[in-house]
Formats: sequence, structure tokens, C-alpha cells
Amino acid sequence: MEPRYVSTKGKSPKATLKEAVLNALADDGSLYLPQTFKRVPREFIANLSSYNFQEIAFEVAKALLADDLEESVLKEIVNETITFDAPLVQLDKKIHVLELFHGPTLAFKDFGARFMARLMAHLVKDESRPLTVLVATSGDTGGAVAQGFWKVPGIQVYVLYPSGKISELQERQITTLGENITAFEVAGTFDDCQRLVKKALLDPDLKENFSLTCANSINLARLYPQVFYYFYAYSQLDLRNLSIAFSVPSGNFGNLTAGLIAKKLGLPIARFLAATNVNDAVPRYLETSHFMPKATVATYSNAMDVGHPSNFERMKHFYRYSHFSLCQDVWGKSYSDKMTLQGISAVYEKYNYIMDPHSAIGYLAAQRFLEKQRKPHQCVCLETAHPAKFPSVVKEAIGVEPEMPLVLQELENKEKESIPINSSLAALKENLFTHSQ
Ligand SMILES: *Cc1c(COP(=O)(O)O)cnc(C)c1O
Repeated sequence: MEPRYVSTKGKSPKATLKEAVLNALADDGSLYLPQTFKRVPREFIANLSSYNFQEIAFEVAKALLADDLEESVLKEIVNETITFDAPLVQLDKKIHVLELFHGPTLAFKDFGARFMARLMAHLVKDESRPLTVLVATSGDTGGAVAQGFWKVPGIQVYVLYPSGKISELQERQITTLGENITAFEVAGTFDDCQRLVKKALLDPDLKENFSLTCANSINLARLYPQVFYYFYAYSQLDLRNLSIAFSVPSGNFGNLTAGLIAKKLGLPIARFLAATNVNDAVPRYLETSHFMPKATVATYSNAMDVGHPSNFERMKHFYRYSHFSLCQDVWGKSYSDKMTLQGISAVYEKYNYIMDPHSAIGYLAAQRFLEKQRKPHQCVCLETAHPAKFPSVVKEAIGVEPEMPLVLQELENKEKESIPINSSLAALKENLFTHSQ
């Protein structure tokens, strides 16, 4: 493997795909990006509608990864990732929703987690020690990562979650899998969990005894599979010579960054809408040209409660740090909890369609954007989670709870298994050593 990956700060040596994926963070503390992007062949894009999701994903994966992985390997990883659909549903002439919640944990994070797990397994297949993956979660990420890595050979996963601070449903998604997934129930906060993971990754004793990595959202391996579904959405559109905008409910801005990559690979997307809750550092930057992250505020759309979005540095890097150029492609808007409820209820009344609080914010931004544009556009709103994951917010908005999909119902009957630990590195280490026996 050639070193093809650079850090956004540019102060770390170039890395290979294996280093970029297993280290996640570069030595200079910034994030990895490939030095260049290859375009998906023009004829393929012109004929997108004649291919299925797996075929499209494979072609996009080749543009991103064929220099480092054999096509047969890539095909297998892609096919094991894309095992569920992402249908485009038309709400009206100009607004469509791309349902990204048909995976095992009913959120778009399933794509990233499944792909990362299989790619990591491939990258370490010749190593003698199993790969030990640590992940801290404030709720949703843990479930998707645990599911994504479940039963993947050669990998042990430890999920650290704050005891009593995640929903019962989220806890079940993490603690009922067993096999290669172990849940550490930490007496502390999410920040304690995150601090513990960071400390563990730097601990010499652990480094000597384990091949350690972490599965958080800054990892490129989670971004790549998210590029696939922008192409797939496009393949399902009736283009009608209209410009296409994608509305992306955003927190850490991984999903939107994946969209920018899709555009770099040649997909003709006119605009990206950065839709946020009141954690609005990016929309404020777009408006004022000053990036002033603030402390995180808790909202109904809690998976987007990110005060300081990490992928923003990748976005700036793509546009050579020019506010003007970034604004050509990205438009932003933020919404309060009250407006979120109004969005859910407006969509329900108008289209008889139930949206989760995150997706509702994307819908509101799309509607606002379409009103403002003189040039005719059609807009694809990414539906990042199934509404049944947020029953109480949905009920507050429209008076009824969404129907529980079978996978959520089944969780109720499964036995929780977790290992309680205190929030010290010593406790984590002791348990890692005991459980790896
Ligand atoms: C993680 C998440 C988001 C935010 O995605 P980013 O890539 O972090 O911007 C939005 N909606 C849901 C449901 C999520 O789980």
C-alpha cells in the first residue's frame, strides 16, 4: 500500500489506507483525507438508473479504494455492507426523502459501521493478534458499531456507555448481542467514556498487549460508505433538468462531508443544505465567516447535539479554506426544538408521513431553501433515523406514536448483559485483561 492519505493540518507524514483507518486520527491531531479523488466514469453516472444499489456502491468504492484493495475484496466488503435498501420516497414534486433507516439499528450509521468493521477485519487479517476496538457512545453510535462488528472474525469490541444516561432501547441495542461484543457500563458521563478511550489508546501497557483502535465517527472508513447512497439517491430521481440539492440533518458533519466527496467524484449536486438544531456552529459560520463553536446544548434531535463538529475541518480543506467557495456549495439553517415539533407535524398533516426529529430539521431546511431559490431545484432530504427510535418526541408533535418495527420489538425480550466499571483507566485495563483471556 502506498501512502496516499494526508492530514488536514498537513503536519503528519502521509499514511497508508491501513494506517489511516486503524489510527483514525493523525499524529498532528487532525483528520485524514486522500490526497486526490478519482472520478467515477462519466458514462456510469449517465446510466446510473440502470444499476442496483450494490452495483453503484461497488463502482463508487472502486473510485475511492481500488488503488489499495483488490476488486474482489472490495466487492465482498461492499456486498456485505449493502444488505438493505435505501429507497427514495417522493413527498411532492420537489421534495423527496431518502430513507436511510432500513438497517439493523434503524439509523444511517449502520452503513458506516458495517463497512468499517469489514474493512478493518480485512486490513488486520494477517496479524496474529485480534483487533481490539474501543468505542465510547452517548447512545446511537454504540448500537450501530456493536451491530456492525457483531460476529466479524478477528475483532473484539468493547462499548463504553454512561450508566443510566442512555435510553433503554439504546442500552438494549448494545448489551444484548454477546459474542465478540462486550458492554462496559461506566459509572460516569459520556465525556468520561470518551476520555477513557483516549487514555487507553495512549497507554503503553495496553499498546504492548493489544492491537487497539477506536471506531468513532472521525474515521474515514465510516465516511466512504455514506458516499454510496448519494449516488443511489440520484439513480432513483426523475431528473427533469432540475438542479439537485441534498438536505442533510447534521451534527458532526460526517454525512454532509460524504456528500461533498460524492460531488468530487463527479455526481452533479448543485447544493448541500446543512440543517442543524441550535448547535449551529456551521450555519453561523456560513452566515458570518467566523467559526465559533459553543458548548453543546441538549435538544430533541440528540444525535446532532455537537457543539464542535469534527468534520468541519475536512469541509474547509476541500474548499481551500475559502468561505466564499464553501458557500457556493453549502447553505445552512438551524432550528429550535419547537420548530422541530412543528416540522414533524407539518409533514404528517401534509403527506401523512412520520419523520423523526432529526429528519424533520432537514425537511424544514429543504422547504426554506426551495422557497428562496429562483432557479428551480428538487431536493432530496436524508432520513437519518426511523421515527420509532424517538417515540415520545413524535407523540408530542402529532399525538400518536409511530409503529414499532419488529427489530425493536424483539429487543424487549432479550437479556441485558453489561460489566459495570468505574470511570478510571485502571478499572478499564483490569477488565480488558480479564475479558481477553
Ligand atoms: C449521527 C446522526 C446525525 C448526524 O450525522 P453527522 O454525520 O454526525 O452529521 C443525524 N441524525 C441521526 C439520526 C444520527 O444518528
